Amino acid sequence: MNFLEERITKDGIVKEGNVLKVDSFLNHQMDIDLFDQMGEEFQRRFDGKPINKILTIEASGIGIACVAAQHFHVPVVFAKKSKSINLEGEMYVAEVESFTHKCKNNVIVAKKFLGPEDHILIIDDFLANGCALQGLIQIVQSAGATVEGIGIAVEKGFQSGGRIIRNLGFQLESLAIVESMDAKTGVIAFRGQ
Ligand code: 5GP
Repeated sequence: MNFLEERITKDGIVKEGNVLKVDSFLNHQMDIDLFDQMGEEFQRRFDGKPINKILTIEASGIGIACVAAQHFHVPVVFAKKSKSINLEGEMYVAEVESFTHKCKNNVIVAKKFLGPEDHILIIDDFLANGCALQGLIQIVQSAGATVEGIGIAVEKGFQSGGRIIRNLGFQLESLAIVESMDAKTGVIAFRGQ
């Protein structure tokens, strides 16, 4: 088990409805030393790629992306979620369905922060059905920028997102891939175990 799998085993809570709660260390209270280890691991996995910017999505991706960025020495742009269609100025927009909140959001990035010269590493906390990631990929591609890779903290391998994104040919690196989890027993199994 790697460091993140160990932490999920220790502190993750399996909820009904295929939801893994990791709010004591990942997406509410945040363990910054753990984030730093994750950043170091992303840096190792994407070593040699000409990454000049990290793109994430609010809210839970921001902390992970910022700590990771200290290993890449690049700026972080986060996509904003907005229900309104009253978007001012020059924006890239994608529609994203939220797995946890079961609603649709517009995800927006100002055009001035993303362009054809950019080589992007996308970072997010979770990968489930892949809607959030597909929205971010769409935004990068509308900007004419290049997706150099995708770094995820926790992938739920029993949902379809990982397969879809890998089939599209992207280098997707998930630090922990949950193969199965049981809300009754609390048992979590990881891929590769
Ligand atoms: P997707 O778009 O891949 O279906 O879902 C990704 C987003 O849903 C993530 O950004 C994350 O915020 C949220 N999410 C999906 N599954 C889980 C889960 O099991 N636990 C938590 N805490 N968030 C999840």
